[in-house]
Amino acid sequence: MSTSAIAANGLRKSYGDQVVLDGIDLAVPEGTVFSLLGPNGAGKTTAVKILSTLTSADAGDIRIGGHDPAADPRAVRAAIGVTGQFSAVDGLITGEENMRLMADLHHLSRREGRRVAAELLERFGLVEAAKKPAAGYSGGMRRRLDIAMTLVGNPRIIFLDEPTTGLDPRSRHSMWGVIRELVAGGVTVFLTTQYLEEADQLADRIAVLDNGTIAAEGSAEELKRLVPGGHVRLRFTDPNTYRSAATALPGATRDDEALTLQIPGDGTQRELHSLLGALHSAGVEADELTVHTPDLDDVFFALTEGGTIPGRPEEALR
Ligand code: ADP
Repeated sequence: MSTSAIAANGLRKSYGDQVVLDGIDLAVPEGTVFSLLGPNGAGKTTAVKILSTLTSADAGDIRIGGHDPAADPRAVRAAIGVTGQFSAVDGLITGEENMRLMADLHHLSRREGRRVAAELLERFGLVEAAKKPAAGYSGGMRRRLDIAMTLVGNPRIIFLDEPTTGLDPRSRHSMWGVIRELVAGGVTVFLTTQYLEEADQLADRIAVLDNGTIAAEGSAEELKRLVPGGHVRLRFTDPNTYRSAATALPGATRDDEALTLQIPGDGTQRELHSLLGALHSAGVEADELTVHTPDLDDVFFALTEGGTIPGRPEEALR
C-alpha cells in the first residue's frame, strides 16, 4: 500500500438498507490518473466523499497519501484537494477574492497569497475575469476557478468529481488540458466521470463501478479487449463482386440485401493484410472498407446494469 497515493481495501458503505459500496478495492499509484466510471447513482460521489474524509466508511482499510482518514483526517485533508459537484466558489465575490480567501484558509501570508493567486489565475486563463464577480462566469470558468482554488494549498492528490459534467465540448477539452498539466506536475488525480471518452482520454487506469462493486478494472485498452465486437466491414455495389468476395471469405457474416460482409477480428495490420490478400487473390475490390474496434461505450454497456460479456466468467473481468 505504501507506493499508492490512494489505497482502499474492502470499502463498504450503506445508506439504510441500500448497499452503495459493497467492499471495493482501489489502488492508485502516485502521479497517475485513476478514473472511477459508472452510471448515475453507482456510488462514485460516495466513494470520493469517503476517500476525502467528507463521509465515513462502514468498513474498509483506507490510506490517502499514507494517512488513514478515520484516524487522521487532518493529515488527509492537508494532502488532498477536492472539487466537484459541491463547488467552493462564492459567486458574490470576484475570482481573485475567492482565491485570496483560499490563501487565507491555508494561512499564507498576504504577500504569498497574492503571488499564488496571481500565478494560478494566470495559469487557468482567468486573469481577465479575475476582477469580476464569479456569479457571471461561464460553467467552464467556474470549474477552472474551483480547481485553481483547490491548488492554493498545493495538494499532491486531487479528487475531481465529474469535473466536466454539463460543460460544452470546448470547455471540456480545456479542462482535460488542465488535468493533464496537473499530472505532468506529478499530482495524482482521482477522477469520476460519466463520460467514457473522458476516461479514455485521461486515465491510466479505469474502474467500472456497478451495483456497488467494481465490475472491471484496467487500462482503456485492456477494458476494450474484454468485449467482442471488433470487425471489418466490406460494402459492395455489384452483386457479382459481392458473391465472389463472400466465397473468398467463408468466415464472414453476410448481409445479402445490403451487400455487405462483416469479418470478425481485432483490426491489426496483420489481419487486414491477410484479408486484403484474400480479396486480391479472388480478384475483387470492395467499394468501402471500415474497421470497427470496440470502444469504451461497448465495455460500459456490456458491464453495467445487467449487461454481460459472453463466454467470460465474472472473475476473469477483475
Ligand atoms: P454517483 O455519484 O455514482 O451518481 P452517489 O454516490 O451520489 O452516486 O449515490 C449512490 C447511491 O447512494 C444513490 O442511490 C444515492 O441516492 C444514495 N445516496 C448518496 N448519498 C446519500 C445520503 N446522504 N443518504 C442516503 N442515500 C444516499
